[in-house]
Amino acid sequence: MTRFSPSDGRELASVAMGDAADVDLAVHSARRAFDSGQWHNLTGLQRGAAIKRLADIIEVRLDEISRVEAEEGGKPITAARSEVQYAIDVFRYAASLAGNISGRLIADTGPDGMGLVLHQPRGVVGLIVPWNYAVTCLVHKLAYALAAGCSTVIKPSEFTPGSTLLIARYAQEAGIPDGQINVVIGEGNSVGEALTSHPLVDMISFTGSTRVGSAIASKCGASLKHCSLELGGKSANIVFDDADLDAAVEGVFIGFTTNGGQECCAGSRILLQNSIADQFVEKLRKRCAETKIGPSLDVGTELGPLIHEQQLKIVTDYIAKGVAEGASLVAGGLRATAGQLEQGLFVEPTLFTDVTPDMSIYREEIFGPVACVLRFEDYDEAIALANDTRYGLANGVWTSNIDKAMAAVRALRSGIIWVNAYLQIVPQLPIGGMKDSGTGRESGLEGLHEFLETKAAFVKLQP
Ligand code: NAD
Repeated sequence: MTRFSPSDGRELASVAMGDAADVDLAVHSARRAFDSGQWHNLTGLQRGAAIKRLADIIEVRLDEISRVEAEEGGKPITAARSEVQYAIDVFRYAASLAGNISGRLIADTGPDGMGLVLHQPRGVVGLIVPWNYAVTCLVHKLAYALAAGCSTVIKPSEFTPGSTLLIARYAQEAGIPDGQINVVIGEGNSVGEALTSHPLVDMISFTGSTRVGSAIASKCGASLKHCSLELGGKSANIVFDDADLDAAVEGVFIGFTTNGGQECCAGSRILLQNSIADQFVEKLRKRCAETKIGPSLDVGTELGPLIHEQQLKIVTDYIAKGVAEGASLVAGGLRATAGQLEQGLFVEPTLFTDVTPDMSIYREEIFGPVACVLRFEDYDEAIALANDTRYGLANGVWTSNIDKAMAAVRALRSGIIWVNAYLQIVPQLPIGGMKDSGTGRESGLEGLHEFLETKAAFVKLQP
């Protein structure tokens, strides 16, 4: 398959597309590696040292991998660099956990015995990754799978395989043994399905759409494989009238335009308290109008192109649907084509008001730089609106009242809640969704435990 630049249509790379036979080879390679014990029989500290060497190599090659991530995915180069820096932090954090995998000893089971609880690697894990954060979504799986002692078969998105191939190559340089990381590039309905249904795979860790995640869960259910699913979202950013409004405008703007809005946690439902709604919309409209839209390799670019033609059509169709449903456009709404943008897949930051909760632009994940504004009167109404969605991935709360903020953290039904911040991630915090946003958690201690099986032992003793 040939990958063209979403910024200007240039040919970027040609990649060989694998099939079920390649998946079978890769799974057998991972199985042999796991069953040999070459990796999981090392001490956690030894595994951690190799993972840390991988982080060090990525740090040296930050320019190379960031450029590939920016060019293939279309994100601004500054964002790609931050993403790779975050990946380095994740590998270092996971390396530190590798040496700290502990169990429990239950001493009070009577004089003739003791109980043990152990955590051991699940085995061969299939890692299926989307295109929007090719590096972050990969390392949220790979770093912890390796720390736990698992062997992996990775299926990157066919649109963004470059950074995965680089990380796999760096892992060899870091001394991570052959067979631990296997990569098969290909389409979801061939390579992805073959990996999900392979009998020698013990677990699937998937990030992608709710539609595909649900199909994968059914397949894993049929063969009783463990699976962890990071899926779509339709998150709310709630702004109360006691918030620092300028900080909230910037946070809300970032919330729905980062990565061209192709962001699982995009804060695409903006809930504004009535008393500040008009001035907030005006400030946000101005911020949208000032956005620097441009090719991904320009250092000044804030908003890059969408990933491919099909995504451009999905987003522009949703904008047309919003207008047809009766919402009012206060910013954007068009494909951006001025000057050099004409060659790429750019859409202006788009803001709708006069939105009602039944509109499809308010209920469905759009995956573009498009947000809807709704107003609320008080705290209870804000929480009820935010929770009125099939998804449960993220929410944002903007207020200067700590009691209100903490009450909202408790009441909102999502895997992560940001207070006076948005999209700020750190490796120690688990990420994942409730409801249709998935099951299981990635990153943090909880993310490590997805890749560990719990085992119990009772040891009979002679008193
Ligand atoms: P997608 O579901 O189309 O594809 C994701 C991956 O699954 C790709 O590698 C794809 O080739 C593969 N795939 C497709 N069909 C498959 C099948 N039948 N069996 C196995 N694998 C299959 O998603 P996408 O368009 O690449 O990514 C966008 C979606 O990902 C959005 O819905 C977004 O919200 C979600 N996402 C979620 C998170 C999170 O942390 N919750 C993070 C990033 C993206």
